Amino acid sequence: MEFGFKLSPSSAIELDKIDLSLYEKVCEIEPTAKTCISCGSCSATCTASEYSGMSVRKMLLDLQRGRHAEVERILSHCMLCGKCTMVCPRGINTRRVILTVSRYYDNVEAGL
Ligand code: SF4
Ligand code: SF4
Repeated sequence: MEFGFKLSPSSAIELDKIDLSLYEKVCEIEPTAKTCISCGSCSATCTASEYSGMSVRKMLLDLQRGRHAEVERILSHCMLCGKCTMVCPRGINTRRVILTVSRYYDNVEAGL
């Protein structure tokens, strides 16, 4: 019989141990990515977000936290429509960010 509460797995992130190589690569190719203020305009206008959870905002946060599996999962729903790029108040070329991350995973899959 279950009652009371149970402990959830810890969501703590050890910042010293996470892999930031992909985030750094993205910032090298699209330096404005560093200026994201997590305003959510990209998610609010995203064509795919309602049914898939696609969000550039979340993708950038997940990259900064080394959550690569989650990045790969949401990225697969992007249709590259470019609406997020048009509304970003920081002028981040979000399509370029998405394409950079996407190419990275394509290369990993191809063993390059
Ligand atoms: S719209 Fe631009 S600044 Fe706002 S969360 Fe998206 S990427 Fe970041
Ligand atoms: S380019 Fe992708 S992330 Fe941006 S609004 Fe379109 S579907 Fe959403």
